[in-house]
Formats: sequence, C-alpha cells, structure tokens
Amino acid sequence: MDEDFTWRESDVPAPGPGQMLTRTLYLSLDPYQWGYRRSGMERPGDVCHGRTVSQVIESRIPEYAPGDFVFNTNGWQTHGLTGDGVSIFRYMFPRKLDPAIAPISTAVGILGMLGLTAYGGMVVQCQPKPGETAVVSAASGGVGQAAGQMARIRGCRVVGIAGRAEKCAFVRDGLGFDACVSHLSESFADDLAAACPDGIDIYFENVGGRVFEGVLPLLNRRSRITLCGMISQYGNTDRRDAGEVWRETGKRYFDRQEVAVHGLAVRNFVEDYQDRFLAEMSGWIRDGLVKYREDVWQGLERAPEAFRALLAGGNFGKTLVAVGDDPTLDAELRARRDAGDTLGAVPGV
Ligand code: NAP
Repeated sequence: MDEDFTWRESDVPAPGPGQMLTRTLYLSLDPYQWGYRRSGMERPGDVCHGRTVSQVIESRIPEYAPGDFVFNTNGWQTHGLTGDGVSIFRYMFPRKLDPAIAPISTAVGILGMLGLTAYGGMVVQCQPKPGETAVVSAASGGVGQAAGQMARIRGCRVVGIAGRAEKCAFVRDGLGFDACVSHLSESFADDLAAACPDGIDIYFENVGGRVFEGVLPLLNRRSRITLCGMISQYGNTDRRDAGEVWRETGKRYFDRQEVAVHGLAVRNFVEDYQDRFLAEMSGWIRDGLVKYREDVWQGLERAPEAFRALLAGGNFGKTLVAVGDDPTLDAELRARRDAGDTLGAVPGV
C-alpha cells in the first residue's frame, strides 16, 4: 500500500574514514524484501533495504575512486554511505563493476544474486542432463528466465510456466524455451501435461500453490526439485509455515517417485560458486546464449508501485528502479527510457 511508505528528505552525508559516498543508479526490487518487513527484520521508520548499483562520488577507501561503479546496498535512497559496517562489507557479494563486461544494471539481475540463485538451484542442485525435461515456474521473471536458459544450455527440453500470453510468448520466442504454459488458464494442469509428454525430471519452484499441484502428478522417478520460492503464498495470512504445507502437499508424490527436494538459500552458493558462475554467465551473455529482460521503472518515487506490481505479476522481467542517471547507457536505451518505456533493456531479444 502507498500509505505504508513515507518519503523523507535529508542532507547527503559526507563519508568518514573507511567510508565512501555513492549515488544510487539502480535499485533492485525483489520478493524477499516483503519478507524483511513481515519478519520484523526491518522496522517502521527504517530505510527500506535494497541491493543497488551505484557510482562512487567521494571515497575514503583506497580501493575505490570517484566514478567507479559498484554493487552495494544503498537501499531505497538516492545516496548512501558504504563501509559503515551495515552495507557492502557485511553483505553477500560486494564487487566493483566493469561496464565493458555487461550493462551495469545486470549486477542486481542476471549477473548478480538472481543469476546465482538460478545457477545454484538449476546447475548445482538439479544437475540437468541432455534429453531431460525441466520445468520452471515464474519463467519470465528474474530467476526463472535464467534458470530455464541454463537447463536449455545443458540440453534439456525446457517448459516455462508464466501468466499473461505476452509473457508466455516472450519465454518461448525470446528466451528459446521449448514451450510455455499459462497458469492463468483453467486447463493449466492439462496444458502442462501436454507440454511434458515424457514427464518432468526437474522442477524449479518459484511459485507454489496451484502451479505446484499441477506439476506433482507429472514428476518422473528420481526427479529433482529446487524449492527456490513460493511467491503465490507471500501474502497468505495462514499462520502455518508455507514450506511445511508445500512439503505435505508433495509428500506422497515425493515418496512414490523418490524425488530429491532441495531447499535453496542463495547465500550458501556465494563462497563456492560465485566466481564460476560469474565466469560462465558472462561468457553465455557475451556469446548470445543467455538473454535477459529487465523491467525498469523510472524514479525512486515509483518504487512502491513497482514493488506492488512485482508481487502481483505486473512486472515483466527483472524489476529495477532507475534512481539516478546511468552514464554508461547507450543512446538507444537512453531514448527508450526517456520516452517512458518501462520495459527496459531486452538485449538480443
Ligand atoms: P519475478 O519472477 O521477477 O517476479 C515474480 C513473478 O511471480 C511475477 O512476475 C509473476 O509472474 C509470478 N507470480 C506472482 N504471483 C503469482 C501467483 N499467485 N501465481 C503464480 N505466479 C505468480 O521474481 P524473482 O525475483 O525472479 O523471484 C522469483 C522467486 O525466486 C520468488 O519466489 C523469490 O522469493 C525466489 N527467490 C529465492 C531466492 C533464494 O535464495 N531461495 C533468491 C532469489 C529469489 P507471472 O505473471 O508470470 O505469473
């Protein structure tokens, strides 16, 4: 709700010893931020947490100079101090960004936490093999689009699940999935079965609920599931643990088919897999094997509206808010964004 947010203005702070001041270029909006609020990790009055791509304005940290681009956690603000003990140095994967490798916005998307989440769940946990059928829910979203393309690169038949027809078409024709089924259709379960004639070997779960129930009867013996998220349950006021309900719903299928179910927390993949992921994903993007779609909203004041859209399926691709001017943007993208195109960058698609 808009009334849950307050707009506050204050002076831009000066960096102290061991700190730098950065201006926010992109703010990442992610479903987990909703959980931050609900769990009480964030209290009313706090600046909303958020991962960001920023540019250094003033630095008292030797490794960073004015003009550098960085991944950090400025939260929902136009400027932030980094190195104050509550931002990047305690966070998941601080790093300096090189615009020559990929657009810097990807540091909070396909080349950031979302891509690593997909890599951990799909490549590391589910280990896709040629000829297998992999199904990915929320397939047009930040994590889903990456997970499905990784399975495709490994030679799987890949079936996406998404909402609107426009999203399904993008998943099929833009991202190269073999099929995409709409969970909005009354015949969803039958459509999914028709798209998976050999059953399902891998299911990458982002959604839960009715979508999960459609997947269960199609699971093959010794299939693998990554339980990445359950976005359909995030507004659920049922006090029972959503994960428990999910496991209970699936139990008889899991037992009968010897299904391996993996929980997923992206932080567990940072130490062992981040370097490998960054190298592989940068190569896939460079070689045109992986495409991605960003849904870029203009201006920090639109963040609450964009966040609501994300939770209701009103986004289309990885959701970002462009907070400050990105000096690395090429002329074509700049013109599209200046014209109010909220569908942002769609490189190669
Ligand atoms: P996203 O997919 O870009 O956006 C969310 C999408 O979920 C919406 O676009 C919508 O797509 C779909 N959705 C929303 N409500 C739905 C419902 N009731 N039924 C079916 N689909 C619904 O978001 P994301 O950032 O990539 O995150 C995807 C999932 O990964 C989330 O569950 C998130 O919590 C999880 N995640 C987990 C980790 C981890 O460490 N485990 C890390 C990152 C993200 P359609 O319009 O196509 O339905």
